[in-house]
Amino acid sequence: MIVDTHAHTYFPGLGERQEEILANMRDAGVSAAIQIGTSVETSRQSLDLAKRYGNFFATVGWHPCDCQHVQDIEAAMRAIKILLQTEPEKIVGIGETGLDYHYDTTGRHEKIRQREFFARHADLAGRYDLPLVIHTRDAWDDMITCIRDFPVRRAIMHSYSDDWEAAQQLLAISDEIYFSFSGMLTYRKNDTLRNVASRLPIDRILVETDAPFLSPEPFRGRQNEPAFVRHTLSVLQHIRPEPPEAVEQAVYDNSIRCFRLAK
Ligand SMILES: [Zn+2]
Repeated sequence: MIVDTHAHTYFPGLGERQEEILANMRDAGVSAAIQIGTSVETSRQSLDLAKRYGNFFATVGWHPCDCQHVQDIEAAMRAIKILLQTEPEKIVGIGETGLDYHYDTTGRHEKIRQREFFARHADLAGRYDLPLVIHTRDAWDDMITCIRDFPVRRAIMHSYSDDWEAAQQLLAISDEIYFSFSGMLTYRKNDTLRNVASRLPIDRILVETDAPFLSPEPFRGRQNEPAFVRHTLSVLQHIRPEPPEAVEQAVYDNSIRCFRLAK
């Protein structure tokens, strides 16, 4: 059994196909998918899906790229808090939040804003005892500082793609930080990432699709969906020293533990 720990099936193109997506999950042995919010609107959509289908769960929060034009941080976070207060049963995490300095337009002011948003999410995660779903791109040093300072205890590094040294920094901070591998693990050129995934403690690994993005091989270039997470797990089973069944069981157990899915 597998859990896709990061998907956005409310996206156009996937949004109209929920029944088919669920049927494909069943065929692939994917028992659940976590729908990840990136704004108050998509957090609401994630929650609606979770309320409608037993195999979906939701997280609520602001992606660093989606809150760029949000003027009032206070109001933006209040909207997230209201979702948490009114619909706590199906919300299993806070985020995705994080730092994304990829674009040249990310000046000093924008970086400060992203960190402010991150701090608010970290605070909510602590208060509600939920894991924090973290997105990070081209912002590693600041990310580590934030995780240490705020502080973050239980978290998922979504679509982890950094090296072994970076992974060790995280391992040293908290024993409840999980590394979630996406379809990038299956890409031919990604030996560095496979090396990290083969060396990490098995009880810290998750798998995800980030659907509709990052399709694994052999579906690269096509629209991704939760069932395809099976292909990422296959690569993981291939590179890990443990027997394949033990890898699947461990990654499944990690998903349940990290998101408290059996609550
Ligand atoms: Zn995402």
